[in-house]
Amino acid sequence: MAKIPRLMPQHPRLFRAEVVRTGRVSPSMHRVTVTGADLAEFPWLGYDHWFRLFKQLSHQPTLRLPDVSGSRWWPSYLAIPEVERPHCSNYTVAGFRPETAEMDIDFVVHRGPTGELEGGAALWACGARAGDALAVLDQGLLFDCPRDASEVLIVADESGLPATAGILRSLPRDTVGRLIQEVPTGGDRRDLDAPAGMTVTWVVRDNPTSVPGAAALDELRRHARPDAAGYAFVVGESTLATEGRRHLHRAGLPKKRITFSGFWKHEAQRASLAG
Ligand SMILES: Cc1cc2nc3c(=O)[nH]c(=O)nc-3n(C[C@H](O)[C@H](O)[C@H](O)COP(=O)(O)OP(=O)(O)OC[C@H]3O[C@@H](n4cnc5c(N)ncnc54)[C@H](O)[C@@H]3O)c2cc1C
Repeated sequence: MAKIPRLMPQHPRLFRAEVVRTGRVSPSMHRVTVTGADLAEFPWLGYDHWFRLFKQLSHQPTLRLPDVSGSRWWPSYLAIPEVERPHCSNYTVAGFRPETAEMDIDFVVHRGPTGELEGGAALWACGARAGDALAVLDQGLLFDCPRDASEVLIVADESGLPATAGILRSLPRDTVGRLIQEVPTGGDRRDLDAPAGMTVTWVVRDNPTSVPGAAALDELRRHARPDAAGYAFVVGESTLATEGRRHLHRAGLPKKRITFSGFWKHEAQRASLAG
């Protein structure tokens, strides 16, 4: 398999942008399309290319942004007075069209225990209007498949769907392996542009109160032994990421052949850590 272009940029660029339009992709996914004067220069690599997303909140008169020096931006971000500090969270390029300088960002629409929309980013996305200001800080790829991988195994909850869709679209067409993709409802399944040798297994959560990622983890544990010369990419709720990696390693896949990332943490996990 061809080596994937890399990874975290040494001098990430910050791109100012504004909302062009928004719309619902599926019951649990809201798309915001953005553009910007120099966004056509975003060095899109395909795969799971991700970025830090800075958003202007409704009480803020302007979008204040941190200074980016080399790969450092966090101290400057924290130095912005809290009331003026933009909301920051991590997102994946769901689609990119340099010819129109447009980027699609897909936000999981998630709800709290009483059914109310929750999460600063999802709230922002669902209320976004054309012209709203934002900025994206390029962070490169997490996907890091070795050149000699015999197979690719991808496991994700819905927060990883933009990444898994991008990875399948970008993989060499002779790649073999499997995607286990969990989604909240049957309506969140979509057509994926995958190599013919990649089997796609959708896992639909039947219980809306179950922790996202748990059903994908069960499916992974039922999966046949991974090939020790393969590569795995496991992302989503933090338990899916850490337990998925643990399972794959115990089943014989070397740690260096597993990329795992907790994309977010469920409240129950936060509470158990705090207690
Ligand atoms: C590299 C990377 C790429 C990512 N790409 C995407 C992407 O393309 N699309 C996407 O939707 N997410 C993506 N995520 C996950 C996203 O960053 C998190 O969901 C993040 O918590 C959202 O920020 P927030 O400020 O809205 O929520 P927070 O303030 O962090 O959380 C608020 C509350 O919402 C809950 N919550 C957060 N996310 C979810 C969720 N997905 N489902 C259910 N409850 C949740 C939290 O447990 C908490 O109770 C990505 C994460 C990483 C690390």
